[in-house]
Amino acid sequence: MSFIVQQHDRLNVYVEDLTHDGSGVAKVEGYPLFIPGALPGEQVEVQVGKTLKNYGFAKLLEVIEPSPQRVEPPCPVFWDCGGCQMQHLSYEGQMIQKQKQVRDVIDRIAKLPNVPVHPVKGMDNPWRYRNKSQIPFGEQNGRIVSGFYKSRTHHIVDTDVCIIQSEEADLLMATLKREMLILGVDAYNERTHKGLLRHLIVRKGKATGEIMVVLVTSKRKFPEREAVVEMIKRVVPEVTSIMHNVNSEKTNVIFGNETSCLYGKSFIIDSIGDIDFEISARSFYQVNPEQTEVLYKQALDYAQLSGGEMVIDAYCGIGTISLFLAKQAKEVYGVEIVPQAIEDAKRNAELNGLDNAHFEAGAAEDVIPKWYEQGKRFDVLVVDPPRKGCDEKLLQTILTYKPKRVVYVSCNPGTLARDLRILEDGGYKTQEIQPVDMFPQSSHVESVAWLEI
Ligand code: SAH
Repeated sequence: MSFIVQQHDRLNVYVEDLTHDGSGVAKVEGYPLFIPGALPGEQVEVQVGKTLKNYGFAKLLEVIEPSPQRVEPPCPVFWDCGGCQMQHLSYEGQMIQKQKQVRDVIDRIAKLPNVPVHPVKGMDNPWRYRNKSQIPFGEQNGRIVSGFYKSRTHHIVDTDVCIIQSEEADLLMATLKREMLILGVDAYNERTHKGLLRHLIVRKGKATGEIMVVLVTSKRKFPEREAVVEMIKRVVPEVTSIMHNVNSEKTNVIFGNETSCLYGKSFIIDSIGDIDFEISARSFYQVNPEQTEVLYKQALDYAQLSGGEMVIDAYCGIGTISLFLAKQAKEVYGVEIVPQAIEDAKRNAELNGLDNAHFEAGAAEDVIPKWYEQGKRFDVLVVDPPRKGCDEKLLQTILTYKPKRVVYVSCNPGTLARDLRILEDGGYKTQEIQPVDMFPQSSHVESVAWLEI
């Protein structure tokens, strides 16, 4: 409840800012209103919706003076679909906003106004970049639908195209939807728990062209499988792997525990720079390989390795950064909490003939202190934590043993800024920060920070 504006008020406001999830922000006598679809610099007419004590929401009715950066979203379902948040802002405008988003938290939370935050490294062509699509299938009013979820819901926004995914994924999504009933396959219904096909997953090795298709069904019994395999091969002859996963649980989780191979190999190979990776149906792998290379090169640049260093890669996933580092370091120690990812990391190290990369499954905050207690010493520590940032105990370990250089790869500027402040208070000096755009058209931004003690 607010006393400054009331629900249903129609107001003419100036948009000052953009939130990290892509809503415009206008202030009415200091009271912030969040306006989805509005852009900074715009004069807009809005209708006030829900109001809380410290902020409220409003619906955009009309853009009176548009931002020079406003563009027509090229995707026809952009305003419904929750996949992208920024298609109404030019790519140049997205780059400016993402840099500003990092700059703001580095000033406000890390309190480091003098640390340079460089312009974002973006893509020359910020479309069709995703190498993985996870597409839900369902039924709406007797029709099969497939596409992506509306923001914060499980409502499928039906579409035949998604211009940030591969053309092959478009083709498979649309053809399967059109032909599956003819083949005798119905779509799973989350509410009634009836129907067969839950998800279509398409993964593409961008560097190798290899393509994997995964069909997730609610039952093991799948007599139409051969007809579906033939259909997939006809539509996209480049497919090298077709997998079947069974998920019979009532759950939001996409994969079940049973996976079998229907056609071809059970993995695809992709490479980033000169390192090859084997990717199976459920492996974690960065979704934008072109920008991943930019991100890892930046991390490697900041690590400044000359061949003799002992390096830690904390939160290493399938060891992608570790293997990059291993080429230029004496030894790399990677740690990751998901045991399956560590198995992948070890296999990938072997695949690339890198015997100086070692991997251990466990929590970074437990395993790294153990390494130190065993007497190992490290020159450089790379961290790439999930959105919640580094564990407090890991930060304390860093401050106890003080490796000379820390390279912090972050997918969340807010927690990066919080952790930089803790490391600064413990004696580290942040040298510079390079944001990289891994997810064009979305509101996410990745950054790499370089610290020295
Ligand atoms: N560096 C990898 C993955 C980064 S994503 C890459 O670039 O591909 C963050 C990873 O941290 C995830 O794989 C997640 O499983 C892992 N993780 C989450 N909490 C962890 C913890 N406490 N200790 C170690 N790893 C953790």
